[in-house]
Amino acid sequence: MRAVDIIEKKRDGGELTREEIAFFVHGYTRGEIPDYQAAAWLMAICWRGMSRRETTDLTLEMTASGDRLDLSQVAPNAVDKHSSGGVGDKVSLVVVPVVAALGLPVAKMSGHGLGFSGGTLDKLESIRGFRSDLSTEAFLRQVREIGLVISGQSLDLAPADGKLYALRDVTGTVPCIPLIASSIMSKKLAGGAHAIVLDVKVGRGAFMKTEDDALRLAETMVHIGYDAGRKVTALVSDMNQPLGWAVGNALELREAIDTLHEGGPPDFRDHCLIVAAELLQLGGVARSLDEGVEQAQQALSSGTAWSKFVAMVKAQGGDVRQVENPDLLPHARLVRATPAPRSGYLAELDAQQVGLAAVDLGAGRAKKGDTIDHAVGVIVHYKVGDYVEKGTPLFTVHANEAERLAAAEKRLLAAHTFSDAPASPYPLFYRRVSSDQILGKRAQ
Ligand code: URA
Repeated sequence: MRAVDIIEKKRDGGELTREEIAFFVHGYTRGEIPDYQAAAWLMAICWRGMSRRETTDLTLEMTASGDRLDLSQVAPNAVDKHSSGGVGDKVSLVVVPVVAALGLPVAKMSGHGLGFSGGTLDKLESIRGFRSDLSTEAFLRQVREIGLVISGQSLDLAPADGKLYALRDVTGTVPCIPLIASSIMSKKLAGGAHAIVLDVKVGRGAFMKTEDDALRLAETMVHIGYDAGRKVTALVSDMNQPLGWAVGNALELREAIDTLHEGGPPDFRDHCLIVAAELLQLGGVARSLDEGVEQAQQALSSGTAWSKFVAMVKAQGGDVRQVENPDLLPHARLVRATPAPRSGYLAELDAQQVGLAAVDLGAGRAKKGDTIDHAVGVIVHYKVGDYVEKGTPLFTVHANEAERLAAAEKRLLAAHTFSDAPASPYPLFYRRVSSDQILGKRAQ
């Protein structure tokens, strides 16, 4: 086989065989196919697309390029969730302990944040001593012993994706649905869970800017999961405005702790209940989504979800006193509220700009490996559709440097748009895609 023939076939709209896809994926991962040929191939895929079969084959070959986590001995019924990333997205911090408290193990490999979208590990690392670099043995032991773990990748999962993603990043081939879907799903399949809930964000603060694209991505990933023998449900959820009120690591952790104590922002709480219910249903603990929501509510009100969260923090070396008393978490030196410049309905709250304001403050990374400030961030006080009185606090900035505080305030003011006419609130979710729905039959 020759790489150039495979590039030309895709360029001309042909459907690649499994062997051709395997040849390309493994040849590139081993360094036998050069970057310029892989770049041409990726661009041809972007232009010509891939059939469902090709996309699944690409995913399976990427999964096969590295290690796979074997959960069969420790937690054969383990579930996993994945978010395509957003601003204020601290859902895992609540959903993982809720689901684990109801007897469904969660073995979650998470990442650090990059750019305006935050990462779950950064939030957890606000806790002194919290370890997110568990070895595979420690990861598996923790799932077996306490039923939940959130850590970084210790295994070399889907190394083909790591190489291809780096190339896509510099060749304009990131925004391509078969490539995004195979990238996400190759890592999820290698992560070993038998049931996975995908939270696909759409809007200003998300990768997918339109509902149509988000739906296509969701459907593609559900198909891949089904074809690979996993149960997958995807939700398309709003990311035009931040989720909840807090954006920034320790501030978001605190909001998650409040939510685990039945407080927290209503939109965030409702979002977590739905995602938890989907996992509970997919994992066979709930017979319906309504029952799943009820069970999740019960795990919050009884304190069992909170106990699971504390057990996880303890098992991963975190200082439990800081989560039991969040005043002990890192806090910024400068905390300043900005009053609303006018009265009116909040018509827009640009999630991407809020995320960038948090990055300006030091809460995020401009590039991989940058250090971050866990204490800084933003609290927004209104959501789209709310009526705002002039002079009431519109948002509060937590900063460690006066100049950064001023820059963030400027950006945040511009991120709020008011209208005199009532503005509709955004829905939390736009679409739900399950294999049952798209295939018209029950997924096994
Ligand atoms: N996240 C991934 O892991 N891969 C993509 O291609 C896009 C988002």
